[in-house]
Amino acid sequence: MMTMDQPELHSNISQVRERLSNAAKRANRPASDIRLIAVSKTKPFEAIRYAFAAGITDFGENYVAEGVEKRRLCSDLDITWHFLGPVQSNKTRHIAENFDWIHSVDRLKTASRLNAQRPVDKAPLNVCLQVNIPYEETKSGLTTTSELVELASAIQQLERLSLRGIMAIPPPCADPHLQREQFKLIASLLNTDGLPNHVDELSMGMSGDMEAAIAEGSTMVRIGTDIFGARYT
Ligand SMILES: *Cc1c(COP(=O)(O)O)cnc(C)c1O
Repeated sequence: MMTMDQPELHSNISQVRERLSNAAKRANRPASDIRLIAVSKTKPFEAIRYAFAAGITDFGENYVAEGVEKRRLCSDLDITWHFLGPVQSNKTRHIAENFDWIHSVDRLKTASRLNAQRPVDKAPLNVCLQVNIPYEETKSGLTTTSELVELASAIQQLERLSLRGIMAIPPPCADPHLQREQFKLIASLLNTDGLPNHVDELSMGMSGDMEAAIAEGSTMVRIGTDIFGARYT
């Protein structure tokens, strides 16, 4: 597998940090309110170690087995692990046992399994609900605010889960104005009647649209390509 060298990775990370802080400044927000998650899916664990050495402490993975293996290979590092991918029921145990956050919950069945399987010696698993708004046929996620409120209320009853926010992957689009409109719509969901006030995290923004996401209130940007380079698998 192709790996970029360490200086190149460090320079990518500096550039992404700079973009993040510039976008925060333009939005009159402290950069420290925005968590930078490096999405390391398909990249070797060495890349994670390099990025950690450059100060990155949050990593996102999309595939359960791959994420669990990399966590094992980096178990000496104090990393916060985020699961971002679609969830299959038979994989929930590995997520509950190995990750600190899951951004992609869109069903009570998944939430109940994660709750039952979260080890008692760990803090409750942080959960974001994935919304598919604006609606796209190919994406998973909740599609109405009533579904969102219903699932949020049910999860509030689950003691081993901590409901934190909303995640979305809006359709890629090159126009910054349209990007902002999409993110504004997603951010407005936090004000939905019936959604608890403490649910205030917005996981939105990727390599191509992180500035627009930050302008609309993102608290967690998920950056893969612009940190680790293109993915070949
Ligand atoms: C791959 C992925 C990312 C990172 O995307 P880039 O465009 O490479 O920055 C972010 N979020 C999710 C859910 C992903 O699957």
